[in-house]
Amino acid sequence: MHDDRPFLAAVLGNPISHSKSPRMHNYWLNKNQINGYYIPIKVELGDFEKTIKSLINLGYSGVNVTIPYKLAALEIADESSKTAQKIGAANTLIFTKEEKIYADNTDAYGFIKNIKSKFPDWDPKKGASVVLGAGGASRAVIAALLSEGSNKIVVLNRTIEKAQELKIEFNNKISVESWNHLNEIVAASSNIINTTSLGMNDETSVPINPLSIPKEALISDLVYTPLETKLLKLGKDRGSKIVDGLGMLIYQGVPGFEAWYGQTPLVTEELRKILIK
Ligand code: NAP
Repeated sequence: MHDDRPFLAAVLGNPISHSKSPRMHNYWLNKNQINGYYIPIKVELGDFEKTIKSLINLGYSGVNVTIPYKLAALEIADESSKTAQKIGAANTLIFTKEEKIYADNTDAYGFIKNIKSKFPDWDPKKGASVVLGAGGASRAVIAALLSEGSNKIVVLNRTIEKAQELKIEFNNKISVESWNHLNEIVAASSNIINTTSLGMNDETSVPINPLSIPKEALISDLVYTPLETKLLKLGKDRGSKIVDGLGMLIYQGVPGFEAWYGQTPLVTEELRKILIK
């Protein structure tokens, strides 16, 4: 049992000032009247392991980990979830009573929960999925789609070699096509998922011909600044189902909060509004 000391958790990264996680977890701590804190910690390169050991010594319950430490977080763990192993990176560390480190990756969970919260009947087994991008977020989305039984996943990436590496990592369960075939692959897909950084701050957009987007498709964009990316706007104008990236960010935080603070937090419209500010 925990004594009357506050529960402590943190998010580690570099940079870290942009992270929405402290606002989110502190909102949940307040709502659930939990005596606890969640703080951002900027970790200098080379200091990750030292910082984790210090936090364990200080009695922290665990941490979130963001760029550039997601690989290091998996490597430092004594134990890890199957999902984290499949993705090859961890974003959530739980420190056990025995001072061991358990690593998980909750991005895949967040991705699925976010879509199902809006479209409960969504089933990625029905129809093909195209995943744009082959970075860390793409890995989480592919793992999530495979865990939902999806058997037709096509990955397109500007640098095709990175997509081909993913194909090997995921045991040939995905196929890879050239970025130049974007429109024809999109036209044949039921789920269109942008995991590239295209669309961030409205400076760029996925180079898609709107007419290639099937009206009945679901479009999910992991970018959440702006909330409605140009891609989502195109999808909305076509009459497709659209899902923004903010919900994924919120839902990926739920399992960590439960593990560190012992209560299940609610995902509310009020929280979304607070995070958009
Ligand atoms: P990453 O590992 O750096 O991967 C970036 C991806 O974007 C790569 O596939 C890269 O292609 C592609 N890309 C970048 N600039 C491009 C351009 N001009 N044209 C075409 N492709 C381009 O980053 P990540 O961690 O996967 O994150 C990707 C995005 O997802 C970010 O915007 C991040 O904020 C967002 N994200 C959101 C959530 C959420 O909870 N909503 C979670 C994770 C990530 P190359 O391989 O060719 O460079």
